[in-house]
This record gives sequence, structure tokens and C-alpha cells, in this order.
Amino acid sequence: MEKPLELLIAQTAIANTVQRLAQEIDRDYVDRSPLMIGILKGSFIFLADLVRAMQIPIRDVEFMRFSSYGSSTTSSGQAQMLMGIAAETIVNQDVIVVEDIIDTGITTHTALELLQQYQPASLKLCALLNKPERRQRSVQIDYLGFTIPDRFIVGYGIDFNQQYRQLPAIYGLTE
Ligand code: 5GP
Repeated sequence: MEKPLELLIAQTAIANTVQRLAQEIDRDYVDRSPLMIGILKGSFIFLADLVRAMQIPIRDVEFMRFSSYGSSTTSSGQAQMLMGIAAETIVNQDVIVVEDIIDTGITTHTALELLQQYQPASLKLCALLNKPERRQRSVQIDYLGFTIPDRFIVGYGIDFNQQYRQLPAIYGLTE
């Protein structure tokens, strides 16, 4: 059954923020072409909008996937990787990891730690949403869209049971 949704971040606010993030990246990567790595599935719309707002040429897009929300942690506090990237793709590249939302930080921390082992020339993190209240692993966010309170959100690529990804804005799920 569909749950009631409360609008938290409107489409125009998202668009303005994506533009700002693209400009920040453009400014920092003059004469460089970063490899953009989206963390699936939630980042697919954000990544698509972000790269189209960027003026600098990107080198490529790649994707990684980790187990979904609620079952994402192992006893070692690592996220379980479902789909990775070959080390040769990363070595000596300027890499920007693109996340939809950072909550406990476990997924992002696992992804960054893994990518760092593949010896990129540089490794930065761009996240649309940050929920710092539940952080368990500290992560440095180089390009951040919005900081939000500890609400369960959906829309703009982000799902609840695979629903709501196609919504153009970001909503809180209410009981
Ligand atoms: P973390 O490992 O930082 O706790 O969580 C990362 C992943 O959990 C995100 O990529 C996202 O898939 C999921 N997640 C975290 N917060 C939310 C939320 O508010 N709504 C939804 N739908 N997923 C979330």
C-alpha cells in the first residue's frame, strides 16, 4: 500500500543545488577529466543530472553497488559489495564518487576504502544528501547538496521497496 509523502526538497531546489555542485566540480577540475563513479541504485538520477550540468569533460562513468538499506552491514561493520570495478579502471585516475545519501556512512566508507586501494590519482566524494545524526563511520564529503534530519526519504532515484524512485522531488515517508 502507498504511504503518504511529505515534500521535503522541491524539484527546483534540487536543480539549483545540482548546478552549484557541478560548478564547484568544474572549478576544481580545470584541465582534468574525472572518472565519475555512481553508487547504485539510488544515485542514478543525481549522477545523470550532475554530469549534464558539468562543463568539464568527464573521463567516463562507472558504477558500484552495495547491499541495500537495512541489510547493508556485516558483523565487521562493512557494507557488502554486490558489484565492483576493476582496479585498472581506477589506477591513476581522478575519481569522484557520487552518492545519493549518506546515513551511517558505512556504505560510503567501504566504497572509498576499497577504491583507495586501487591507487587513484585523487579520490573525492559528492553526495546529494547527508543525514549526520546516525553516522557510525566518519566520511569527508567534498561536495554536498543538502544536510537533512534523520527522516526516511524517497524520490529522485531513492526508493522504498523499489517504489518512488521516479519522483522528481524528495519526500519524507510518513506513517
Ligand atoms: P549508509 O551506509 O550511509 O547507512 O547508507 C547508505 C545507503 O542507505 C544509501 O545509499 C541508501 O541506499 C540507504 N539510505 C540511507 N538513508 C536512507 C533514506 O532515508 N531513505 C532511503 N530510501 N534509503 C536510505
